[in-house]
Amino acid sequence: MIAEDQPRRENRVSVHPHEVDEYGLPRTVVTHRYTWRDLKARHELSSVAHGILRHAGALYTQTIRIKTFSHAVGTLRMGLDPRTSPLDLASRFRGIENLWVTDGSFMPRSAAVNPSLTIAANALMAAEHIAEAGAPRRHAFAAPKTSRAIATLALRQSHFNGEKA
Ligand SMILES: Cc1cc2nc3c(=O)[nH]c(=O)nc-3n(C[C@H](O)[C@H](O)[C@H](O)COP(=O)(O)OP(=O)(O)OC[C@H]3O[C@@H](n4cnc5c(N)ncnc54)[C@H](O)[C@@H]3O)c2cc1C
Repeated sequence: MIAEDQPRRENRVSVHPHEVDEYGLPRTVVTHRYTWRDLKARHELSSVAHGILRHAGALYTQTIRIKTFSHAVGTLRMGLDPRTSPLDLASRFRGIENLWVTDGSFMPRSAAVNPSLTIAANALMAAEHIAEAGAPRRHAFAAPKTSRAIATLALRQSHFNGEKA
């Protein structure tokens, strides 16, 4: 059973202004809080799952909670609007020309499904762009096949999030 938590602007990973880790680097701080709707969705899904199992003949059902979230995404979201999305549609960090992001943080939200294949697909797309950027600039930029697929995905996601193109 997988539920999706609402994307909250306040949920984020930041750098501690004073404290450092064992390597002397600024300590990362994860800020996260569930919303009322997140807790309600979890409760509803759990109740329905228990009901289905009992209906199927289960004599005993149990909820085993995990203490952390598994599909953390969205800390460096990809999108059309530079005001709300640090990454452009090539997974490139806006404002730093030689920085691409290839981990799960590019996904604005997880859509309550497993994200690994989408993360891998985006990394392949970003790799095409990195190779393209490193190659001699003889041709005008043309989006490779994978990039077009990901761009379409990001466009749909942006529209879903209510962003304007
Ligand atoms: C319990 C659990 C079950 C899951 N099951 C599934 C599943 O069935 N299907 C699915 O699709 N997804 C699943 N996920 C989610 C999936 O594992 C993640 O979404 C995915 O691994 C995220 O990929 P990533 O590249 O963003 O980050 P990660 O896979 O976390 O990679 C980050 C890497 O960076 C390294 N790193 C961190 N800090 C530094 C540093 N300072 N310097 C150098 N390296 C560093 C880490 O060691 C790590 O190797 C699961 C997650 C959890 C926790």
